[in-house]
Amino acid sequence: MYDAAVQNLIDELGRLPGVGPKSAQRIAFHILNADSSEMQKLTNAINTVKNTVSFCQICGNISETDQCAICRDERRTPTTLCVVEESKDVISIERTRSFHGRYHVLGGAINPLAGLTPEQLRIRELIARLADERIEEIILAMDPNLEGEATATYLSRLLVPLGVRVSRLASGLPVGGDLEYADEITLGRALEGRRIIAEGNRHQTENHAEAFTQAVAEDQERQVQNAPTPQPRPRWSGSMFEDLSEEHEDSPQQSTLNEPLLEKLSPETTESEGSSRPEEQDDSSSQRQSYQERLEELKKTPLRTPTPQIPPIPGRTYVNPWQ
Ligand code: ZN
Repeated sequence: MYDAAVQNLIDELGRLPGVGPKSAQRIAFHILNADSSEMQKLTNAINTVKNTVSFCQICGNISETDQCAICRDERRTPTTLCVVEESKDVISIERTRSFHGRYHVLGGAINPLAGLTPEQLRIRELIARLADERIEEIILAMDPNLEGEATATYLSRLLVPLGVRVSRLASGLPVGGDLEYADEITLGRALEGRRIIAEGNRHQTENHAEAFTQAVAEDQERQVQNAPTPQPRPRWSGSMFEDLSEEHEDSPQQSTLNEPLLEKLSPETTESEGSSRPEEQDDSSSQRQSYQERLEELKKTPLRTPTPQIPPIPGRTYVNPWQ
């Protein structure tokens, strides 16, 4: 279609990434129409890059010297290693200013269709770098596409048995995005990789309550064991009537309410009344006998249930309201 030289230029430009046939043609004509000095600058720039810039011996990043600026920087923390596909990914992560570790550039991602196998990536160099004991974590920062996922899976299987912490960049919603417009895979990833803001203490509170109850029970048990044996209260024990009866009666066996009443009805009092009538004494003697028997029987069976013995609760002081 064009002269050989122009067609050759278009073909070469078309092999560049992101440049289609139309773009290649447009660039080629731009070069044809441009000043020779301008194009000489472009040629020089390409030559200089190809002659002077190489790859860092340590990380594989582009560098004009044997070691790149990041590898030479002693302030970078040596414990974290970020594995990326390309050198441009280093620039992207550096732009965040959030990462202060070191990098390892693989030089691509596993892509069998394009003929890129793990052996062609700088994976062997990565494993060799792990000989540095200071490395604690490896961040896999591959692209979130099929090739990137395959590479990350391959690397994680390789790295996990080596006892190093392996993490993967989170994927999810873009900042300033909208849930409504997020695709299912991105939203699903965002859900899976959600961040914990607060662990919540409901479960912990239940445990605390249980522990508290147990501690109180143990404390009470200990107090009961240490407390002196409860002495029977000489006075107030919960009954108003008992209290009053004990106050007036000196007999210690007085414990039931009915006895003072029975005492009043006892034959001794009737006897003193009946002494003025001696003629009725014979008749009343048998009556008195049966009465005495009945009284003795009644005394054996208390009419009132005895006061329940409540053990004192340790640590509490009781006030007798009748004192
Ligand atoms: Zn480097």
